[in-house]
Amino acid sequence: MKPWPVVGHQWAVQGLRQAVVRDEIPHALLITGPASVGKHTLAHQLVAAMLCQADNDKPCGTCLACRKLRSGNHPDYLVVEPEGATARLKIDQIRPVERFLALTPKEATRKVVLISDFERATIGAANALLKTLEEPPSYAHLILLATDADLLLSTIVSRSQQIVLRPLPSRLVAEALVSEWLVEPGLAERLARISGGRMGWAVRAATHAETYERMQSTLELLVAILGQDLPTRFETAKALASKSDGLAETLETWLTFWRDVLLLHSHNDAALMHVEHRRTLEAVVGATDVRRTVQVLSALEHAQLALLSNANRQLLVEGLLLDMPEIAAA
Ligand SMILES: [Zn+2]
Repeated sequence: MKPWPVVGHQWAVQGLRQAVVRDEIPHALLITGPASVGKHTLAHQLVAAMLCQADNDKPCGTCLACRKLRSGNHPDYLVVEPEGATARLKIDQIRPVERFLALTPKEATRKVVLISDFERATIGAANALLKTLEEPPSYAHLILLATDADLLLSTIVSRSQQIVLRPLPSRLVAEALVSEWLVEPGLAERLARISGGRMGWAVRAATHAETYERMQSTLELLVAILGQDLPTRFETAKALASKSDGLAETLETWLTFWRDVLLLHSHNDAALMHVEHRRTLEAVVGATDVRRTVQVLSALEHAQLALLSNANRQLLVEGLLLDMPEIAAA
């Protein structure tokens, strides 16, 4: 059998392939996991397998359905996603789902809807989808992607079959970068470690230098903030909050830095992500204790959630920055 081009998550791949062969694909599937861990890649393979016209070894990649899907023209497939990096998923985007599913399939035996970033759905949008989930037509399949089931309505989670994708071992990420993306082994190892097991991030960083550079400058900004007094931090917060997007990514990067601080506090250096910033990390470890580090980590996680629920960005960033310890030596 031709393998699906998915790095890692093989238990999920096996389960979904069997479900396709046995025609036992759930009407509602919820794939969760951190950003860039591989949710889209897995979902796209599943959709292709569900629509492929070959007799077996789906998706074949060459039949008319596979080609139509690849060019974005399959009439029985609908993708719904927020209109922008930080935008909410609105009720007006969910309404067409119901209309799409109300008509029987045109070419395949099923109709498939993929809804991405569902943690960003408004309550109205989530409730609208719930109605569809309650009585789906026999040919209808919904695939929801979200970072965390805890951010969704429990009624939606309970009506879906959930697949939880976890970060991959960094060895697996490094091997795939070398064999599939022809990255030089030393660089592959470094990117794999920094990726935190998120294959999509590692590939982006390997193919677009700015992904890696953006992470480095985000870390440098954090270090600069730690050395700033309160009035300067207010100014920094204002500038940061006014940037239209990238704030979610900034928070995620800062979390990885503070997780490293926590690892060093517990003398667990093997799992360290930002080895090249070790001196800075050690300065922060010397100026904080575990309690304070955990406080900063939970403040960052809190800010991530607040960002999803449309909180005032300026207040959110100010609160976060004023909460960070002041470390002159950082
Ligand atoms: Zn095919």
